[in-house]
Amino acid sequence: KSLGCFSPSEQLESFCHLLHFLSAPRRIQGARPISLSAAATGIFGMGRGGDDNGNQKLTLQDVAELIQKKECHRMVVMAGAGISTPSGIPDFRSPGSGLYSNLQQYDIPYPEAIFELAYFFHNPKPFFTLAKELYPGNYRPNYSHYFLRLLHDKGLLLRLYTQNIDGLERIAGIPPDKLVEAHGTFATATCTVCRRSYPGEDFRGDVMADKIPHCPVCTGLIKPDIVFFGEQLPQRFFLHVADFPMADVLFIIGTSLEVQPFASLADAVRSSIPRVLINRDLVGPFAYQPQYNDVALLGDVVSGVEKFVELMAWKEEMQELIQRETEKKYFGANR
Ligand SMILES: [Zn+2]
Repeated sequence: KSLGCFSPSEQLESFCHLLHFLSAPRRIQGARPISLSAAATGIFGMGRGGDDNGNQKLTLQDVAELIQKKECHRMVVMAGAGISTPSGIPDFRSPGSGLYSNLQQYDIPYPEAIFELAYFFHNPKPFFTLAKELYPGNYRPNYSHYFLRLLHDKGLLLRLYTQNIDGLERIAGIPPDKLVEAHGTFATATCTVCRRSYPGEDFRGDVMADKIPHCPVCTGLIKPDIVFFGEQLPQRFFLHVADFPMADVLFIIGTSLEVQPFASLADAVRSSIPRVLINRDLVGPFAYQPQYNDVALLGDVVSGVEKFVELMAWKEEMQELIQRETEKKYFGANR
């Protein structure tokens, strides 16, 4: 079964991950932890490489050296909520958070309803309250995002697959063609009636003024291109079919790998390449089927990224990059 064929339940699960993003860092979904491809691998008894071949367990230092020697230079990164929590992205389910109180006034039946099309057409206001919060500008990228930017600057980033909808990867300066925003983006929007596509910026004024945006051509309701329940993942997601087999190192940062189809991408790379997990906990194949070329850096995500940056001797470059980007913000050149 190809990764590209999503059943409705898989789409729902994928969508649940979007919700998981919003409620990070806690786990809220009882999603299945094992991907189909990994299960099949187990049945046929052919793991990824493995110690049976006498391979030494790979270390983070080894991975750093492989990249320094340009033996690995086509990095694919999978990222999740864990890279954005240090930026203060809010949990809209948490009583006490400003966003939660803002949503309460709408009397929504349950928080997930704001990502349901039927509810959106009934009452789009709760969704646009969230949109107002997450529209580019309210939050700043953190060290993890700039690390990914540095990978791109160094020509090492083949593609970044993110589950986040906060747009912080773009704000950090990673070009859209290097990005797959698996659960959509506020950067573009589509008319729900005539399907015309618009830059998200066109409706920024409306959203900020608590006005529901409407299509200038047909007056239909405008919806930012965030993936709702039952909707297809963006076309760009299918780039994985080429990207993952081409990757020569995979980084998985700040995601619990709980939800398909995103999670099974971790098994879509060639079995011989190093996989590095930087995350609070051991997750996905790193937990249930660790291989000799898997490296896990557990704990705080930013600390994990810093550790790798140090091994690469990129500390100064990171500081310079962050300083440059922060100055841009003050001079208003980043928007
Ligand atoms: Zn329209």
